[in-house]
Amino acid sequence: MTNLLPYNTFGISALASQFVEVNSVLQLQNLIQEKAILEEPFLILGGGSNILFIKNYEGLVLKNNLKGIEVSRENENYVWLKAAGGEVWHELVMFCVNKNWGGIENLSLIPGTVGAAPMQNIGAYGVEIKDTFEELEAINIQTGELEKFNNEQCKFGYRESIFKHEAKGRYFITSVTFKLNKKPDLNTSYGDIETLLKEWHIAKPTIADVSKAVIAIRQSKLPDPVLLGNAGSFFKNPVIEFSVFEKLQKNNPTLKSFPAADGKVKIPAAWLIEQAGWKGKRFENIGVHEKQALVLVNYGGGTGKELIDLAYKIIDSVKAKFGVALTPEVNII
Ligand SMILES: Cc1cc2nc3c(=O)[nH]c(=O)nc-3n(C[C@H](O)[C@H](O)[C@H](O)COP(=O)(O)OP(=O)(O)OC[C@H]3O[C@@H](n4cnc5c(N)ncnc54)[C@H](O)[C@@H]3O)c2cc1C
Repeated sequence: MTNLLPYNTFGISALASQFVEVNSVLQLQNLIQEKAILEEPFLILGGGSNILFIKNYEGLVLKNNLKGIEVSRENENYVWLKAAGGEVWHELVMFCVNKNWGGIENLSLIPGTVGAAPMQNIGAYGVEIKDTFEELEAINIQTGELEKFNNEQCKFGYRESIFKHEAKGRYFITSVTFKLNKKPDLNTSYGDIETLLKEWHIAKPTIADVSKAVIAIRQSKLPDPVLLGNAGSFFKNPVIEFSVFEKLQKNNPTLKSFPAADGKVKIPAAWLIEQAGWKGKRFENIGVHEKQALVLVNYGGGTGKELIDLAYKIIDSVKAKFGVALTPEVNII
């Protein structure tokens, strides 16, 4: 038995009946050949920053420790960088920032691993990994074969990919290749990046400046999981029909919207939760973060069951008040 408490950013205590650290693709393929995987439930674990354990895990946990970053090819304008799935995401971003290769600097300080990033097409400050994603390699858990997925095959959407749907539980992502720009167009228009750069008197920002701004904004708004257990945004921003939004906005003039696919709009879940009265509410060891209503927190000693019960109460009250359904972004295990 292994306690998964150090392996999830919520800091939830849950026991796994088996725990294996995967250090090479060959080791993973051997595990598949020996039928160690698939004989019982298995869970691929990266940094545990998008997971909530609501009970002990009766099965095999495969902790991704695959390491390595290499340039696959480059030309005058672009570099194709291949990173192993167990690399820490933020370290990869810093590697690119230091080289002045643009494309993922707005995704600075997102916790977790490279291999988990395509799962929900991680995104922040107007950028998603699909924007620089070239391809990934994954081991098919049934066959042990290495398969490749290009951008289209991953079916990326807002916090979505094929790996959360038809390919769910079928692949172990072993590496991801990004196409990065040596002459990047910086994206400073989103959120407070521009305001902060102005405050810092930076008229011609570099990739490093944008990254620093993103880090500063994130640190001012989001709790550090090392200090306060959390998994970032617990809920996705709901995507609704424009006609539904218009009706909602009539009674709630401060409700904002952002364009989404198929003429729909995305509305801020944080606003809905705050209006429903949950922001900053504490219930013994758990609660809703005081600065960001989307983030549920574990003050220490909280359980996954307590957190999921709170999440359902929030979902019910938002539904009752606005008629809008919230769905969790975090993987409930
Ligand atoms: C403070 C904080 C801020 C955050 N901010 C953001 C943000 O701005 N934007 C954003 O998009 N997310 C954000 N997140 C969520 C999280 O960081 C990302 O979802 C991240 O990609 C999760 O990586 P991980 O390695 O921790 O995945 P885990 O939590 O370990 O796993 C998540 C899921 O992916 C699966 N998985 C993991 N690795 C693999 C693999 N190699 N192959 C196949 N399946 C795999 C797991 O089985 C699980 O279902 C935040 C989280 C925190 C704690």
